Amino acid sequence: MRIDIISAVPELMHSAFGHSILKRAIANGLVEVNLINLRDYAVGNKKQIDDYAFGGGAGMVLMIEPIAACINRLKAERHYDEVIYMSPDGELLNQKICNQLSLLQNIIILCGHYKGVDERIRQHFITREISIGDYVLSGGELAAAVVSDAVIRLLPGVLNDETSALSDSFQDNLLAPPVFTRPAEFSGWEVPKILLSGHSANIEKWRHEQSLERTRQRRPDLLK
Ligand code: SAH
Repeated sequence: MRIDIISAVPELMHSAFGHSILKRAIANGLVEVNLINLRDYAVGNKKQIDDYAFGGGAGMVLMIEPIAACINRLKAERHYDEVIYMSPDGELLNQKICNQLSLLQNIIILCGHYKGVDERIRQHFITREISIGDYVLSGGELAAAVVSDAVIRLLPGVLNDETSALSDSFQDNLLAPPVFTRPAEFSGWEVPKILLSGHSANIEKWRHEQSLERTRQRRPDLLK
């Protein structure tokens, strides 16, 4: 899979892709992530990427020319399955969307900044708009990192144990069961005995019951 992320401040995402699971996935060639600086496509002698909104009002808007030039250049090199815009008014991100995206070959993710992007970009270039929640961030970069992280960890080979992404919350519409590690007792607080029993069938059964119980308590809507 290849993810091209277009941003006015790509530096904001360096850390997200530079450590742990995502860093390893990239190093192992399981995914290619390109952070593209919109400033490389700036226009005019002032090297502009944003301008005041027509009609007035506070806040700058990312201009159509640099974004169009950037997207067109990428599209000339390969086919893209989706050109995604991160936006608080997009469809709300969930595990199902992440699963869908993880099956794609090439995607572009466009990050807005300031007041957003010229609407014509959304009308003519964007194929899908995704929000990571009902709150407003200052830019799409952290949101793009969230989407990328949630998608990349689903790619075959990224997590050590192929089954481990499947046992996470929201796959199967169930929340994950509680987990414990050593020591088996701390300050008198013991881990559930069954987890120490070595009886894998019983452990699986216990985990499933815990998942169900947790989902019933915290997210009964998922069980409907
Ligand atoms: N004026 C816009 C918000 C602009 S915030 C509005 O009210 O809808 C600047 C940029 O941050 C947006 O263009 C978008 O790319 C990103 N962003 C902000 N909140 C987001 C969210 N919840 N999900 C995804 N992207 C978001």
